Amino acid sequence: MALTSTLSHTVEEVWKALDEVQDPEIPVLSLVDLKVVREIQVEGTSVTVRLVPTFAGCPAMETMRRDVERRLAAMGFTEVSVHIERSASWSTEQMMDSTKEKLRSFGIAPPPSKLESLHATLSVPVPCPFCESLDTRPDGEFGSTLCKQYFFCNACRQSFERFKPL
Ligand SMILES: [Zn+2]
Repeated sequence: MALTSTLSHTVEEVWKALDEVQDPEIPVLSLVDLKVVREIQVEGTSVTVRLVPTFAGCPAMETMRRDVERRLAAMGFTEVSVHIERSASWSTEQMMDSTKEKLRSFGIAPPPSKLESLHATLSVPVPCPFCESLDTRPDGEFGSTLCKQYFFCNACRQSFERFKPL
């Protein structure tokens, strides 16, 4: 007699579960917030997920893949395939306002919504996530990661990070 699996997760349940998987660098955001999770297909006890990396060569990608695999295995899926599409384009312009709000409350200045050109974007003042002052300046050329830059607020004398526009 063949065993029939009782597992029946819907695609919506998988989206919800992956919305609990945090970004390794910005724990206040989920991989769904970041639009890293693009597509979910469920077939019985197997699940296929398509991920798009935020920044090319983002070293956190392998961590994200492992976290997603672990979360899906915990749901009871016996076959988990995670595809990382390095050729697909990801842009901070797709970031939802609610996601930006989470970034701001975490003390990270969100990327601007419209990118005229990278040069123009980088010369626009970045509002401080703590006091909203525009009197800020880049602090050093490189942020802590590929995805973030350091800034310093002259008004409240705090340094903060900005999620790099892309
Ligand atoms: Zn400030």
